[in-house]
Amino acid sequence: MCGIVGYIGHREAYPIIIKGLKRLEYRGYDSAGLVLYDGKDLKLCKTKGKVSDLEEKVAKEISTEGHIGFGHTRWATHGVPNDVNSHPHFSNSGKLAIVHNGIIENYEPLKKELIKRGYVFHSDTDTEVLINLIEDVQKTDNLKLGKAVQVALNQVVGAYAIVVFDVNKPDELVCARLGSPLAIGIGEDEYFVASDASPFIEFTSNAIYLEDEEMAIIRLNKPMKVRKIKDDSLVDPYVQELQMNLEQIEKGGYEHFMLKEIYEQPNVIKDTYRGRLLANKGIIQMSGVEDNLEKFTNAKRILIIACGTSWHAGLVAEYVIEEFARIPVEVEYASEFRYRNPIINKDDVVIAISQSGETADTLAAIKLAKENGAFVFGVCNVVGSSISRETDAGAYTHAGPEIGVASTKAFTTQITILTLIALRLAKAKGTMNQSDYQRYLLELEMIPEKVQEALQTNDVAKQIAEIYKDVPNALYLGRGFNFPVALEGALKLKEISYIHAEGYPAAEMKHGPIALIDEQMPVIVIAPNKGHYDKVVSNIQEIKSRSGKIIAVVTKGDTQVKALADHVIEIPETSEALTPLLTTIPLQLLSYHIAVLRGCNVDQPRNLAKSVTVE
Ligand code: GLU
Repeated sequence: MCGIVGYIGHREAYPIIIKGLKRLEYRGYDSAGLVLYDGKDLKLCKTKGKVSDLEEKVAKEISTEGHIGFGHTRWATHGVPNDVNSHPHFSNSGKLAIVHNGIIENYEPLKKELIKRGYVFHSDTDTEVLINLIEDVQKTDNLKLGKAVQVALNQVVGAYAIVVFDVNKPDELVCARLGSPLAIGIGEDEYFVASDASPFIEFTSNAIYLEDEEMAIIRLNKPMKVRKIKDDSLVDPYVQELQMNLEQIEKGGYEHFMLKEIYEQPNVIKDTYRGRLLANKGIIQMSGVEDNLEKFTNAKRILIIACGTSWHAGLVAEYVIEEFARIPVEVEYASEFRYRNPIINKDDVVIAISQSGETADTLAAIKLAKENGAFVFGVCNVVGSSISRETDAGAYTHAGPEIGVASTKAFTTQITILTLIALRLAKAKGTMNQSDYQRYLLELEMIPEKVQEALQTNDVAKQIAEIYKDVPNALYLGRGFNFPVALEGALKLKEISYIHAEGYPAAEMKHGPIALIDEQMPVIVIAPNKGHYDKVVSNIQEIKSRSGKIIAVVTKGDTQVKALADHVIEIPETSEALTPLLTTIPLQLLSYHIAVLRGCNVDQPRNLAKSVTVE
């Protein structure tokens, strides 16, 4: 996790760095820091807290001149968030500076060795070990910075995206990556380096994304050199034209990114199926699926691997794929899958889901599946991300940048893609009759409009939030396709409001959670008028008999649940398998309003970060 921004060129570096750090703050926000070189002095400023705290400190402590520099917004792995552990870190001589995203796993033996060699450490970070290792290599073998970084990285186990500066070589920055992303923006006589392209999109639309085990030396007025860290071979980097625009990464009048992203869902769901769903013609086309259709249709099993909210989207897909295409599906937490010697067969299709495309555990699980001969299909949002490159084929969700740490539009667009896949496979396998198939296509095409309607529940969600904002616990119940939505609803509430919440299959309530129900306990029941509606109504009766407070998400026009529940939130009617795309919306709004009313930082909840690039 963590965000990195660097600049070398003819402009003042500070405004680019500070603005860039704000755009990357979703990646980590427990501390922040930067260095600037003004041709004479290397100026350092760092602090525990947010980028705005850094900005205040800079104004008091350092002059901001300088055309070269870099900054960091941290998500601590080694050492508590405090001023000293914040990045950048200096080497003992004070001549080398580094920012780092990732973990140096063998930092301890390296540190011991460096201490023996006389180095002293000021922070608890693994990063400070790396910068001193680079210095030690540089001194011992009398190497130039680039070479010293390369030799040092070859001794390192772990993950990194780094930028390094040497006052003795003040016209260059050395960057490298293994496991954590790093993009280099190429302007005229200037370079930008950042964890994603958002810090430099107003300056250039040309960028390269370093691949794993690559390093780049970027020098003022010179072409950039990219090499393989292991064997020193030169790489001809692929320069990409960036798709992102400024509007996408700004709040556009919304109070929080999360709210903006909730409201973007009608449009981004459309973007997800644009060109892929031709409902009137009865066609679904996705090149990643078409090119590998046989692999999918011959699959004995589909294994879905993901983490967090993506895992919940995977669970929805389990219901949808099994229902439509009759292929057995198993959904795995990537972190468990990768470490438990899983059974992977050559005729398994693995679908890996990750918004950022950088999730470390998912990436490792993909590698494991590939080693075992499985075909791996990626569902990612970030174009060019590690997972999109590591997988055999895939489909982007095209949700646009998701900056709020709590995932919203990524979830619904993932479900959209996975539903398209399920329908395509159903057609290919002949497991759904033509009229149902056609009905689903038309129904899916109408989902954006219905999501728009579901967003009108905002005021009701806010009123309910006012009533329940101070509860210590909440229970979310759903059945069938909406069981994963219950899990996702509970996760959303937990992560942004810090209220303890649990999601459960409604029928499982009697096997434990029912003991928790009393007049204090809000139970959010997802009860659309489809599937096991009657069973859910019985579950609601059971809660009612124990004085629990019922907040029900129902289909418009519902009367039965309305008569029982304390509050109802109405969503439009749709086919059962598509209901998760609508029932999710009021739950996102409910969590959002509760968190805002509790004074929580909705976009940057404590202890979390957006893309989990550490395991
Ligand atoms: N491991 C480093 C630290 O704890 C970097 C963490 C990050 O990626 O922000 O300082």
